[in-house]
Amino acid sequence: MSSHSRSRMALIATRTAIIIVLAVGVLVGLCFWGALPEKAGASNSDSASRELFPAEFHRVEMPQAKGPHVLLISVDTLRADHMSLYGYRRPTTPRIDQFAKSSRVFDRAYATAPFTPPSVVSMLTGRYPYNHRVRMFWQRVTAENITVADHLRRAGYQTAAVVSNVVLSDDACGLGIRFEHYDDQVSEPEPRRPHMRERRAAGTTDAAIAWLTGTRDANKPSFLWVHYNDPHGPYTPPDDAPVDFTHDQPKLIAEDRLLEYVKEPGLLDGLEYVDRYDEEIAYVDREIGRLLDAYTSIGLADDALIILTADHGEQMMEGERFFFCHGYNVHESVIHVPLLVRYKSMPVERVAQPVSIVDIVPTILEVAGLPIPGELDGYSLARGIHDRPPYAEGPDAEVKGRLIRTFVYADRKIVVQHGRSNIPRRSWAYDLRSDPHESNPLPVDPAESAYIAMEQIIRGDPDPAGQPTTYAKGIRPTGAAVADHADHDALRTLRSLGYVE
Ligand SMILES: [Zn+2]
Repeated sequence: MSSHSRSRMALIATRTAIIIVLAVGVLVGLCFWGALPEKAGASNSDSASRELFPAEFHRVEMPQAKGPHVLLISVDTLRADHMSLYGYRRPTTPRIDQFAKSSRVFDRAYATAPFTPPSVVSMLTGRYPYNHRVRMFWQRVTAENITVADHLRRAGYQTAAVVSNVVLSDDACGLGIRFEHYDDQVSEPEPRRPHMRERRAAGTTDAAIAWLTGTRDANKPSFLWVHYNDPHGPYTPPDDAPVDFTHDQPKLIAEDRLLEYVKEPGLLDGLEYVDRYDEEIAYVDREIGRLLDAYTSIGLADDALIILTADHGEQMMEGERFFFCHGYNVHESVIHVPLLVRYKSMPVERVAQPVSIVDIVPTILEVAGLPIPGELDGYSLARGIHDRPPYAEGPDAEVKGRLIRTFVYADRKIVVQHGRSNIPRRSWAYDLRSDPHESNPLPVDPAESAYIAMEQIIRGDPDPAGQPTTYAKGIRPTGAAVADHADHDALRTLRSLGYVE
């Protein structure tokens, strides 16, 4: 070993010793004061948030906001066209329909990805996945990504989240520190798989109301994000679900079209699965109604900004490979989501132009009178609608390690598929007016501006196939990507949700 190497090793050993001493000191201090944070529902201190972000975040002057209160409701796996709000043949969403009567309703809102982590991080940061770069399960949000909760907290808001999907637990995504109160408790046994844990819509609403009526500081404006996990599969509406849908003729499907987690033993009538999915929607609709009632009776609703959306949709029986799942393509069934925005100065109307869930953060910031950072990909929905095609991306079910990306226009969408090489391999388009079910792919002209813009995004993307280089080892089968440090329990959880085989 050279003397240079020896002195470097000595330096590393000294540094390591200092870090260990400091870490032990901090732990002893925390234990002494009884301040070790709990995993769920923990309160996070301001000093923790000071160290979390790039220095520029704290250098930018942040005005103090006087309000309004902000309530952001997101529903997992809720496809827009199965809601009566959007013309579905069944009365699945009577409470949301009622809420829509005083809201700005976006008929064409798009998620940024067909599965939870990338899409939710877009919803909370106002950035597309190629910018926030959370593209896998168990991949944590990095310090460069400032969430709307961080902005609002600096502006004097009290911030809280109640999330009921385990892939949004603080362990899985690292969002807990971004909120003063982060309740990710998922502890109810699933009805047919008692070894699995969940928190149904009723428990989610209860936890949100408990924060609103108990912990909330009445002297501050509040930001509450509530993420419901129903109607995520397996589709098991509770016994007291508000509706019981039935159908006449069965529609038999091949067993190999069903992923293990969603499969009911011996049940091959696809319409039975659709009935149960719709019943779960009606159930979560009732619970959202209960939350809105509580919000109103506490006296917050009149002056509040209330937003309702979903992180992605769900394929029913239109998938090429699997039925009743999401995360394998960018079909309308998985990226077209509901979006309703209610605020006193906002018009009550239906909006036909396509918008994205990255528009939620700038909308909240504008309504709160706060500056909108330049690096956001979204545009405020509080004013006129910005004319640009929403972007979405997802793993390609056909070929592992490939990504498909889309721009959605009023009447057309273009799709580009590629791998790690930054070079588009295939592209096609759909005419959404004449072919709403996307069954007839059309050629794309490489000279058209949408294609050129997409090519630039792909070429500028450090992780073109959507799997960050540092986590590349963690890529698992079935199209879903899992960060390398996900442990045995995490993989078991992901299997139960159908993301890993
Ligand atoms: Zn989801």
